[in-house]
Amino acid sequence: MSTNAACIFCKIVKGEIPSLKLFESSSVFAFLDIQPLSRGHALVIPKHHAPTLTTLPDEHLSEILPVVKKLAIASGAENFNVLQNNGRIAHQQVDHVHFHMIPKPNEKEGLGVGWPAGATDMEKLKELHQEMQAKL
Ligand code: AMP
Ligand code: ZN
Repeated sequence: MSTNAACIFCKIVKGEIPSLKLFESSSVFAFLDIQPLSRGHALVIPKHHAPTLTTLPDEHLSEILPVVKKLAIASGAENFNVLQNNGRIAHQQVDHVHFHMIPKPNEKEGLGVGWPAGATDMEKLKELHQEMQAKL
């Protein structure tokens, strides 16, 4: 299990800084977000330190979504978003992989989403489809 002494979420996992823990297993830790976008906003993290989703080995990912689901149910939220940010311009502030579960109780509270949808261009999409499929 990789850990980083300077990482705030690794410190939370180790109990070196306090958190409002919601769930813990051998590979996963979940706690309330300290600056919530809405009531019930919570974070699920792998105990293994990795800065981003693409740098986290698969075996540390398998339990994450079931825990996100448990949190959503426990929050009582009918509407909610699951968010996972990677990189500064994608709004990642803490460099330890984390999944947000953010209840959306009304238009104002919870996650606000900008969705700048592009026009459908089937030629470009087909090219991209080939390119990505070749890498999978
Ligand atoms: P992100 O922008 O995706 O990196 O989100 C980081 C989240 O971590 C933010 O929503 C913060 O409010 C939250 N956060 C930062 N420090 C703590 C902490 N000590 N306890 C709980 N949540 C935290
Ligand atoms: Zn960490």
